[in-house]
Amino acid sequence: MKSWSERDLKYIWHPCSQMKDYETLPPIVIDHGKGLYLYDVEGNRYADVISSWWCNLLGHCNPQINNAVKSQIDELEHVIFANFSNKKAIELCEKLAEIIPEGLCKFNFSDNGSAAIECALKMSFQYHQQCGNTDKKRFITLTDAYHGETIGALSVGGVDLYSQIYKPILLDVARIQAPDCFRCPYNKSRDNCNCECFENAENVFKQFGDEACAMIVEPLLQGSAGMKIYPPLYLKKLRALCDEYNVILIADEIATGFGRTGKMFAFEHAGVSPDIMCLSKGLTGGYMPMALTITTQKIYDAFYADYNSGKAFMHSHTYSGNPLACAAANAVLDILNGGTVLANACKNAIYFNRIIKEKFAGVKNVGEIRSIGLINAIELVKNPITKEAFDPKLRVGYQIYKKALKKGVLLRPLGDVIYFNPPLIIEPKDMDFVTDVAKKCMLDVLDF
Ligand SMILES: *Cc1c(COP(=O)(O)O)cnc(C)c1O
Repeated sequence: MKSWSERDLKYIWHPCSQMKDYETLPPIVIDHGKGLYLYDVEGNRYADVISSWWCNLLGHCNPQINNAVKSQIDELEHVIFANFSNKKAIELCEKLAEIIPEGLCKFNFSDNGSAAIECALKMSFQYHQQCGNTDKKRFITLTDAYHGETIGALSVGGVDLYSQIYKPILLDVARIQAPDCFRCPYNKSRDNCNCECFENAENVFKQFGDEACAMIVEPLLQGSAGMKIYPPLYLKKLRALCDEYNVILIADEIATGFGRTGKMFAFEHAGVSPDIMCLSKGLTGGYMPMALTITTQKIYDAFYADYNSGKAFMHSHTYSGNPLACAAANAVLDILNGGTVLANACKNAIYFNRIIKEKFAGVKNVGEIRSIGLINAIELVKNPITKEAFDPKLRVGYQIYKKALKKGVLLRPLGDVIYFNPPLIIEPKDMDFVTDVAKKCMLDVLDF
């Protein structure tokens, strides 16, 4: 009898990996999960401190979410969402409307983060076309951005690892040099700067603002770029700049939504609202693929007209408004609204950041430790004085990842940035465990 991982490799082409690497690190086949932990078919346990690609919000197999999905499945699994609707989708919008940034009130459903981004881009372009701003055809974005893997989303992204090869077929977008607080060219610190680097945004808007329909941004945290964190003031300034040039501000809160940054949504830190907000990942607690593109009455109204005017938003996904996913999302919001999960997460975040600083600050190759909410990132560099990075070919982060797996911790670093982005329910004893393992593995690998 072949092992589960052999049977897997006979057929499955895994995402975002070089399949040849599986020769030395076969796929880990998970049997079941509970809370922070995953258990493989051989009985090994793994602490899922990256929330299974940042989507698992409240632990694996949360009983309340399980029950919500179980009871929905005997009522209705799915129904077409054009002309038809379902109770769970309606309830979800009612609940979200209470907690999302002010002004956002119309909900467009899709089934993954990239699709929600495509929806936002198309909506922004069509909005301006229908408002008579026919020159507004360009998107503005930040360097190092990540917004998903479809062609439009890749175009507004800026992580070469994912987009380099496709550049000849991507949209021509304008890029603002993103804030880089670790290697700040102005020699400032993110805690007390005045976002001097915002002059880059002003310059790009001077050149492209008039022909731009939308600016898209990952608020406060450029996740895939290596958990790069920048100050809320930047978003405040961006809001004003977009208003000045009549450019739609799209918040990609797919990674930052639902308490990841210590507030329900990252934009709250800045005290301003975007014109469009994209949600996914934590939305269903990591249970079901679902995403939302939420916008304002003003944008919605530009599409509202007699049918024959041709102004409708003819954008659709088969699984829009799926009731099972909505049932999971409703349960997530009930848990967040009714209980102490967020408050506990904020309290535990202080402890987590403290022990990470204690354990890792003295390690020789640690360039920066940065944190927001429960997210903590440790950027490893060859030389902490000059901040020179390791040769990527050494795959330092990947070596640490492999060692940590053997010791029961799922880290999956971004290059040489080791990070923790655990479910909000992680407890202090788990934090002690995962940081001890990460440190041991880091020291083993760095000892060359
Ligand atoms: C994950 C992610 C996406 C893409 O979502 P998918 O569901 O993987 O398509 C887009 N933006 C951000 C910020 C993300 O973290």
